[in-house]
Amino acid sequence: MIRLESYVNGAWRAGSAEGRPLVNPTTGEVIGSVDATGVDVASAFQHARRVGGPTLRGMTFAERGELLGAIANALAANRDAYAEIARVNSGNTASDAAIDVDGGIGTLKYYARLAKGLGAHRALIEAGDEQLSRAETFRARHVWTSRMGVALHINAYNFPSWGLWEKAAVALLGGVPVIAKPASATAWLSERMVRDVVAAGVLPPGVLQLVCGAGEDLLDELQPMDSLAFTGSAKTGDQLRGHARVLEAAPRVSIEADSINAAVLMPGTGSGSPVFDVFLKEVVRAVSVKAGQMCTNIRRVFVPADQAAEVSEAIRAAVGKITVGDPGVAEVKLGPVVHEGQRQSALEGIRHLQKETRVIAGGDTPENALNADPKRGAFVAPTVLAAESAADLGLVHELEVFGPVLTILPYRTQEDAAELCRRGGGSLTASLYGEDPATLAATALDIGSHHGRVLVVDPVVGAGHTGHSIVMPQCVHGGPGRAGGGEELGGLRGLRFYMQRTALQGSPDMLKAVEASAAPAAL
Ligand code: NAP
Repeated sequence: MIRLESYVNGAWRAGSAEGRPLVNPTTGEVIGSVDATGVDVASAFQHARRVGGPTLRGMTFAERGELLGAIANALAANRDAYAEIARVNSGNTASDAAIDVDGGIGTLKYYARLAKGLGAHRALIEAGDEQLSRAETFRARHVWTSRMGVALHINAYNFPSWGLWEKAAVALLGGVPVIAKPASATAWLSERMVRDVVAAGVLPPGVLQLVCGAGEDLLDELQPMDSLAFTGSAKTGDQLRGHARVLEAAPRVSIEADSINAAVLMPGTGSGSPVFDVFLKEVVRAVSVKAGQMCTNIRRVFVPADQAAEVSEAIRAAVGKITVGDPGVAEVKLGPVVHEGQRQSALEGIRHLQKETRVIAGGDTPENALNADPKRGAFVAPTVLAAESAADLGLVHELEVFGPVLTILPYRTQEDAAELCRRGGGSLTASLYGEDPATLAATALDIGSHHGRVLVVDPVVGAGHTGHSIVMPQCVHGGPGRAGGGEELGGLRGLRFYMQRTALQGSPDMLKAVEASAAPAAL
């Protein structure tokens, strides 16, 4: 049986209680446990403050980039083991695991490259030299320096690799040591990855620590210069935001929560057109890839009312071809959700949505699963729901069913489609599929205020896009309102969370001296 440990204060430590079970969701078998009872998290924070922080702040951006590159190389050397852990502990198919594992390694490499460009500096300086008074000799520049705190990262179960590394990469580049807490259900992959990086000997002491277990006492350690970056459900996000210590110490807080993302088939995009095919492929991916457990996943599909019947039938037929079963079998496109509790939650969510919709595919546990028992494993059939009209509905715009589930909703005009997208109350991602760049541009701007990212597919983009659900490190990730209001990644923009912008007022000579020791950057 696997018993996960935490890496704190330079050593691996096991919790003292039985902890929570780790389960293989394909078979329901218990494979180990995770627990952090008695792990001294206060000493982890101290270690980060006294050792990790000063070490990182003493390194230039280029040196921190080398560290990120070395972490990526250590992980790449063990990639095959990660796919196996992801299959056994998360129910991932090989391509599901690649999104998580390669996404993490790729993000580290991307930030390693960005760091190289910032060179041998430790601070950033923005363009723009402002004269503040009559005297030309009194001016201002804006500079960024590393916050002297600890980055506490609390991650969701669906991305034990990418979630860990996309946050750590930016914090470490920003000069801030990390304490990461993976979600218990899938912490094995995070633990194994950190073990490999520690074993590779590339981590300076105190720059990266890992707490595997409930970690409820972590927030008690937060200080004003720290930051808390959380990814998970809106419910937990609200709890953490209102935590007494968070309110008292006022660390920086970023919440990446759930979201009712939309895909819109624009008017006049008929079946048979290449853009329609791309749209259909993305919709099918939403109910197969990672068993629908992606925060950016398409949950609502808006289609022109006069095409609704035809599009629903095309989606039903394509979804009917998805092979459900053991994620280790090559033909399987849809594995189980993470555990029985998540299956029950998804099935309950489907039942709630049925108050406003009808089932046109799936809707329950699948009858068959290739090389698996659909009753023992945590399987949910790929599920497509539909409604006659979207306007008067509530649940479809509010309830995230975290599994292979989406709802097709008709709309009448381009303005209606935009309004319906906004009914999600703030989302991570929307995607638009159409032929006319001007209409697409107008719709993208109409929904921009409510979205962190909008993917626009026209005939020129065609199949050459990176995917509705895939987060690219070059682009910001996060959404307003119910999506949590956070913003991560986006190249150097991600550094805002870990560095402090200071308006520096003084003489041209003083500002020149600062400029000489800072990398130019536009955050
Ligand atoms: P969750 O239940 O909210 O848990 C998220 C994390 O919070 C886990 O690590 C959990 O630890 C931890 N946690 C819970 N209570 C805590 C407390 N009192 N103190 C400290 N930590 C605490 O979410 P999940 O089920 O793992 O993930 C699924 C949800 O995440 C979905 O709603 C999905 O939309 C969302 N998500 C959002 C994004 C995004 O970028 N916006 C990305 C991925 C997922 P334990 O596991 O140990 O309980």
